[in-house]
Amino acid sequence: MKSTTRYLEFTVPQRRGFINITRTVEQIVAESGIREGLCLVNAMHITASVFINDDESGLHADYDQWLETLAPHEPVSRYRHNLSGEDNGDAHLKRQIMGREVVVAITNGRLDFGPWECIFYGEFDGRRRKKVLVKVIGE
Ligand code: ZN
Repeated sequence: MKSTTRYLEFTVPQRRGFINITRTVEQIVAESGIREGLCLVNAMHITASVFINDDESGLHADYDQWLETLAPHEPVSRYRHNLSGEDNGDAHLKRQIMGREVVVAITNGRLDFGPWECIFYGEFDGRRRKKVLVKVIGE
């Protein structure tokens, strides 16, 4: 079995944002030389997500609005977590619902996506450097 491990870094200038990382992950899979296997992509922070969905700006605006309805950032006093001195109680909840990681099958050397599937990094407490792990295993 072969494996490749890479770390991606992101600094989203706003508090929240979505970044399409599909091309970067495809490149890592191609460089791995693995033809049949699995690709794991996970956020390494508890206030960020990795998820798969459509690359459509209206959908991303809908996600942001929906997440703000479920767990609004303000007032920060509504979250007991913020009694610790942080202001990111909402970001932990947003991360939980959008997920930590995705696993995509590799078939014939390529990510075996369904129609319109893309991989996104979801940031919920940005303005600082964060990492995403990409691990490719297979043969
Ligand atoms: Zn926190």
